Amino acid sequence: MDAVKRLPVAVIGAGPVGLAAAAHLLERGLEPLVFETGTTAGAAIEQWRHIRLFSPWRFNLDAAALRLLEPTGWEPPRPTALPYGGELIDNYLAPLAALPQVASRLQTGARVIAVTRQGLDKTHVKDRDTTAFTVRVEHADGETRDHTVAAVIDASGTWSRRNPLGTSGLPAIGEEAAADRISAPLPDVTGRDRAAFAGRRVLVVGAGHSAANTLISLADLAKEEPDTRILWAVRGASAGKVYGGGDADGLPARGQLGARVRRLVEAGKVELHTGFGISSLKTLPSHVAVEAVDGRTLEADVVIPCTGFRPDLNILRELRLNLDPAIEAPLELGPLIDPEFHSCGTVPPHGAKLLAHPDKDLYIVGMKSYGRAPTFLLATGYEQVRSVVAALAGDQEAADTIQLELPDTGVCSTDAGTSCDVPAPASANAESAGSGCCAAPEPVFIGFPTGLAHGRSGTS
Ligand SMILES: Cc1cc2nc3c(=O)[nH]c(=O)nc-3n(C[C@H](O)[C@H](O)[C@H](O)COP(=O)(O)OP(=O)(O)OC[C@H]3O[C@@H](n4cnc5c(N)ncnc54)[C@H](O)[C@@H]3O)c2cc1C
Repeated sequence: MDAVKRLPVAVIGAGPVGLAAAAHLLERGLEPLVFETGTTAGAAIEQWRHIRLFSPWRFNLDAAALRLLEPTGWEPPRPTALPYGGELIDNYLAPLAALPQVASRLQTGARVIAVTRQGLDKTHVKDRDTTAFTVRVEHADGETRDHTVAAVIDASGTWSRRNPLGTSGLPAIGEEAAADRISAPLPDVTGRDRAAFAGRRVLVVGAGHSAANTLISLADLAKEEPDTRILWAVRGASAGKVYGGGDADGLPARGQLGARVRRLVEAGKVELHTGFGISSLKTLPSHVAVEAVDGRTLEADVVIPCTGFRPDLNILRELRLNLDPAIEAPLELGPLIDPEFHSCGTVPPHGAKLLAHPDKDLYIVGMKSYGRAPTFLLATGYEQVRSVVAALAGDQEAADTIQLELPDTGVCSTDAGTSCDVPAPASANAESAGSGCCAAPEPVFIGFPTGLAHGRSGTS
């Protein structure tokens, strides 16, 4: 058993939370082994580097990471500024990943394809808790290798798994075949990806913040490229959720964003199709025909899916997990973040205890720990990994002492738009919020609290 404890701790993903886990492990004298499928740290954020965060710098930096960076002469960003995704990478993640003590433990181009207990499949219980993990990795050299580790921290995010366009949680018939006509979830339509959208019929699908921001960017593009046609399909009977309260909205930035989208629709610049639950996509030589359950069809050159994300649980299939059946977050966390029932600020800070699974020393953290809920915040993830690493180091007291300060300006959902979980002004506890939520200036991602006061049974 002691021999197992001396093995490295695998961290899956070198996003902000995975790198923070590595920093905490180093600080505790544990050996991180970080596997990142992309070619650089922050590979998922690289895809949305043109998007501005809604939380300011001071909530986007991990304390242990700062303790590694500060002695190197690294220049901290202005704490109150709202960084773009690209700035989060260039000014924080890249310098952190480049530190010799981190770089030497980070393997890029290394995709984790499975995790199990060494020599034990899921059905075997004997000695399970004291058996090492095997992490199977496809490496950049084309080889697949097994790595033996003491513990696993899965910080692989959800970016690679967007929700399908089809209703019922399944891909629409023909969706996979139409892949060439479906863009990434948050394309840079006025910048890097402009050519794919300029002068084309673009169908935006979804009623969250990705959709709102994308529609506004497309409208900007259409000013310069007048042949650009913008179609917008939402499943609900109206786009009211996106519009929010307009100028009277309690959350000004949200109101402004919604009001801008409403004006675009009213001016005929965005063609809105409500009640459009997608059943199939037919790929034709020059375009794709997107069909609704009720038989209506929209023709588009390219479709932008703004349908939210879900975790990839396949890599953990041989492990014993305890997940909320709806949200796919750790069982006890699920009810606290279920967007069907929760509005801003209802997520208490949490750590190793809440994140534990029946398979000891396995933790899902970061964006992935929120499963299908869209309200994860970096500050939450940094506290998760501080607590998890303390638990792995045997410091149960530190693991159980949760210390979390959350943003007091902006928060919220990144998509799928039903809730946001933040602002607890000047409080160490994430309870409260509501009216102060989402108040950051544009262009940022802001959340749409549902305003629902009730919860699932047994939750608030
Ligand atoms: C547009 C947008 C704006 C956001 N704005 C904010 C904000 O303002 N404030 C805030 O607090 N939060 C914000 N979030 C939410 C959240 O903080 C971010 O998504 C953040 O990137 C999550 O960090 P993470 O480390 O958990 O996951 P990620 O950043 O997604 O990192 C996961 C890493 O794991 C890698 N990976 C995936 N699968 C594997 C595998 N099988 N093997 C190896 N590596 C793998 C990925 O390549 C990636 O680098 C935003 C999210 C989005 C999408």
